Amino acid sequence: MNNHYHKNRSIMIMGILITLIWLALSVFVNRIYDKRMEEYLDHQDEMFTNGIESIINTYSSYAEFIYQSILNTPEIRAIMSEAQSADQESKALLREELYQELIETYDLLTEHDFRHLQFHLANGESFLRLHKPERYGDSLISVRESIRYMTTEHQFISGFEEGRVSNGYRYVFPLFNGEDFIGSVELSLSPATIIQELYNMTENQGYGYLLNKSIMENVDFCDEQNQYRLSLTSDLYVVDLEVYQIMVNQPGVPDLFFEDDFVSAVRMGVEKDLAKGQSFMYTLNYQDQYYLIEYDQIKDISGQAIGYFFSVSEDEQIANLIQARDLSLLLIAIVYFMLLLMIHYVNRRDKEIMQVAMYDQLTEIYNRRSFFELAHVEVEKNNRSNQPLAVAIFDIDHFKMVNDRFGHHVGDQVLRELAQIIKASIRSYDIFARLGGEEFILLMPETNQKVALLVMERIRLMVLNHSFQTAEKITISIGLTEKKQNESLDATIVRADTAMYTAKGNGRNRTELL
Ligand code: GH3
Ligand code: MG
Ligand code: MG
Repeated sequence: MNNHYHKNRSIMIMGILITLIWLALSVFVNRIYDKRMEEYLDHQDEMFTNGIESIINTYSSYAEFIYQSILNTPEIRAIMSEAQSADQESKALLREELYQELIETYDLLTEHDFRHLQFHLANGESFLRLHKPERYGDSLISVRESIRYMTTEHQFISGFEEGRVSNGYRYVFPLFNGEDFIGSVELSLSPATIIQELYNMTENQGYGYLLNKSIMENVDFCDEQNQYRLSLTSDLYVVDLEVYQIMVNQPGVPDLFFEDDFVSAVRMGVEKDLAKGQSFMYTLNYQDQYYLIEYDQIKDISGQAIGYFFSVSEDEQIANLIQARDLSLLLIAIVYFMLLLMIHYVNRRDKEIMQVAMYDQLTEIYNRRSFFELAHVEVEKNNRSNQPLAVAIFDIDHFKMVNDRFGHHVGDQVLRELAQIIKASIRSYDIFARLGGEEFILLMPETNQKVALLVMERIRLMVLNHSFQTAEKITISIGLTEKKQNESLDATIVRADTAMYTAKGNGRNRTELL
């Protein structure tokens, strides 16, 4: 009994242990793949950011070259110097002169991806926009951080900035006449150029540019605002129509990227993050395919977030990573369940083996072997406690006749029934076993022979009055004895056996005490 309890507990502990190991392994695998995914996304993010940076840097050198060779010439410096203090009429003439001087250069610049060429006076007033010569004279200090910076610091500055006419990456160079600051000249790169360059670098990838809508509305001339349309993924952003045209017309970009269902799936995933203005990445599982969508924050010259560059691409790597993770988790789970199953079967087989070893197969009570094992433990206890202990041996009377008349099969049934009714009537700590054939033994701890005699008589009468399947009366002869102090168990059993034979000799169906 005790042994059994220990066994069950150790099996439970083993099960819990395997479960814990399984859980820990699953968490571990998840961690590894999360980390790998993070590394992969970081890498992708870096590539995108670097791509944009390298485009801007390339154009930066290009702008510097144009400034040095074409814009910062003595002729132009002379015009700008004169314009500082000229009246409106002279200013108009100087503006016209500057325009004629540079219009060919400007046309060439626009062919080579630059968008704007603009001159400002030392006080930050727009003097000439070659891209929009009819607009001039407005002060840019309050709307353009780069120009405000230029009027006070007189130093080169570059960066993203929304302007009166449009937005872009601006390179602003100072102009000096000797020591005197006489204004500045600005080249600007449109986001469309950057987007186009990104498209030239890769295939199967969509790129775009989002501009914060309220910033655009605050800065742009009213009549310039129709060059934007609302972003499909967030109402807080607008898309430059020029950029949009590039996005749509690009060969090699999957049409799917512009399909309504896809766009609304993206919108659902990114709208909240877009509202925060920070860079982020989003992986979209759409129609069993993974897409990586990266949003790279754009800060303007004053450090304010003004929009995003984004890229959309179909991504095999994410699918591979997720698949590998799921496969690992599945394998771990399979091993886990196999171990549990193994424990279950080993445990069941153990129990079966124990059942065979300890119990009599026919009557399902203890067999001879386990009786002696259990009885010895009981006798040990009894020797210490000095409590009485009774042993009864009993044997079915004329059992051979039962077999002869009804067959061996019925004989078996009688043995089973007899064992069961006796077992049901004794105390749980009595040890009841089949010694062999139709002979049984009952060990009663803490029972003196007087009490034991009452018990055995009750059992004898119960058997006598029980209606077995055979309809024949079954009787038993009982030999009973009490174990003496310091006597061996075997000696006690021999005495009980002798008493049983006395009962047979005295006419059967009786209990003899010795
Ligand atoms: P007695 O009153 O002297 O005990 O007479 P008996 O016939 O019971 O005694 P005997 O020892 O001569 O015969 C015992 C019989 O019990 C012999 C055997 O066929 C039968 N027997 C022993 N084991 C089994 C068993 O497992 N199943 C069946 N059906 N019969 C058994
Ligand atoms: Mg018999
Ligand atoms: Mg016998």
